[in-house]
Amino acid sequence: MSESPPRFPATRCADCGLLYGHEAYICRECGSETFAEAPLDGTGTVYARTTIRVPGSDQQGEEPFEVAVVDVGGEETVRVTARLEENPELGPDDPVEFVDRRDGVFYFRAA
Ligand SMILES: [Zn+2]
Repeated sequence: MSESPPRFPATRCADCGLLYGHEAYICRECGSETFAEAPLDGTGTVYARTTIRVPGSDQQGEEPFEVAVVDVGGEETVRVTARLEENPELGPDDPVEFVDRRDGVFYFRAA
């Protein structure tokens, strides 16, 4: 049995149902400030990837590292910015899976 990745901790606007990957405080669609947890399937695909060689001050010393835009969710997806673990050579449409969120940063790895 293969181990399935942890659920991705998305949230959903309680009023209009729009999905959010990154934390939202005001819905950009309807202006609601009420959100509900909406865990998604932790599998996803890479939309775009880039290598960070000159990081911001809070990530000094970790460079170079891989940052990707990932579509995560399964049937219903949400697009998030994430770090890729182990600097895999992933490109668009490659499968990835959610690992966890540390210090507000989502981590994915090759699936
Ligand atoms: Zn809304």
